[in-house]
Amino acid sequence: SKQARIDRLKANIPTVPDFPKPGILFWDIMPIMQNPEVFSDSVALLEEHVKESGIKVDVVVGLEARGFLFGPLLALRLNCAFVPVRKAGKLPGETVKCSYTLEYGKDTVEVQKNSIKPNQNVLIVDDLIATGGTMASACQLMESMQANIVECLAVVELDDLKGRDKIKYPVHSLIHC
Ligand code: AMP
Repeated sequence: SKQARIDRLKANIPTVPDFPKPGILFWDIMPIMQNPEVFSDSVALLEEHVKESGIKVDVVVGLEARGFLFGPLLALRLNCAFVPVRKAGKLPGETVKCSYTLEYGKDTVEVQKNSIKPNQNVLIVDDLIATGGTMASACQLMESMQANIVECLAVVELDDLKGRDKIKYPVHSLIHC
């Protein structure tokens, strides 16, 4: 069943207390990738969600760094483009930037200027939504690109932090913690 698949996925995401800072419980998604069956199923679950919701996606946007682990695989399955949102200073050519504060620090995100056309349907993917600051900043960045944000998608969402309240678009996560 779908629930059994979600449960198996969750069983492959160990928690690490006090990482990267005291008081943070870190959800480590890397072990998912140590088991190809589990990794493949995690992408399949994302794909099934998008297909079942009937959303038309032109571009999957992945957030640095762990959004890059799921985003391109999802984009291939949806037969659409993948565009990375990176920390400032990593992308060549003309870019668009947006600054924000996150659970552990402050950052600026950036995307290549001509990577997304106005009114394209964009699905933003990350591994995890905590405070929602990262996802909200990506939304702001996509707004400035005049993209049409169809959904914000994550593997894990930390419900207690109410990150989705910061996000003005549909949010979906495979696992709620
Ligand atoms: P936030 O902006 O607070 O929603 O944080 C989300 C981003 O930070 C994602 O890119 C996550 O990879 C990372 N992150 C934040 N908190 C955690 C956590 N407790 N465990 C794992 N990753 C986290």
